[in-house]
Amino acid sequence: MTTNAIISVKDLKKNYGEFQAVKGISFDVYEGEIFGLLGPNGAGKTTTLEIIETLREKSSGTVHLAGMDISKNGNAIKQMIGVQLQAAGYYPSLTLVELIKLFSGLYDIETDAMKMLRSVGLEDKAKAKYKELSGGQKQRFSIATTLINKPTIIFLDEPTTGLDPQARRNLWDLIRTIRDNGATVVITTHYMDEAEQLCDRVAVMEAGKIIALDTPDALIDNLIATGFERKKEVKKANLEDVFLSLTGQEWRDE
Ligand code: ATP
Repeated sequence: MTTNAIISVKDLKKNYGEFQAVKGISFDVYEGEIFGLLGPNGAGKTTTLEIIETLREKSSGTVHLAGMDISKNGNAIKQMIGVQLQAAGYYPSLTLVELIKLFSGLYDIETDAMKMLRSVGLEDKAKAKYKELSGGQKQRFSIATTLINKPTIIFLDEPTTGLDPQARRNLWDLIRTIRDNGATVVITTHYMDEAEQLCDRVAVMEAGKIIALDTPDALIDNLIATGFERKKEVKKANLEDVFLSLTGQEWRDE
């Protein structure tokens, strides 16, 4: 990870009519990091993400990606980012291989579809249709589709919601691999264990503002420094550890 800002957001505001959903936020995402956007429902995370992805208009402020202004270089920015498609984009009668070929065609690039499926542990499902996949497999497939245009920055909105503990861990590994291969990853999540394990830095949003931004470690240390103590002594394992030790950690045929 570097401290070169690949995304730079300055005084970003978004109004929906009278309602101000994003209230003048500023932050940088560094090249090569996994950056987490956290916060309660309605905090403004998806709005912020979609503005950066050039999918939603901002009301004011500036956003630069790799030095390019989203207001002026939308097309160039779309080429360099990977965004998860909504499930509705996956034509029901096509197989996974056919879908990857279709999306590659849209970007006008050649993709080794089997290699891509292998990288997300779905080579066995190459001839399956999207609707025949389990929740975890759908998520893995949708992450694979974000990689087709070899993006520099990848945006994942709640990538592990609804997944079982193994599937979540496997997706964490996949996201780390994507980062280790040189991409910058921006994710939103409601799971604090996920943010702690996965994110190099996190921004906490509440009611349209950023109320904290740092590494998970530093945020935890700051809280402890205020005298915070957990009420109950924490055991060395929790129920999730029990579940994982009973059912295994590998990718299974979900
Ligand atoms: P969640 O964790 O529930 O996904 P979020 O942090 O992603 O929430 P947003 O989806 O960005 O929050 O919404 C922020 C606020 O803006 C909410 O109060 C929401 O109701 C409002 N909002 C979002 N989209 C619109 C829209 N298209 N029109 C009007 N209000 C909107």
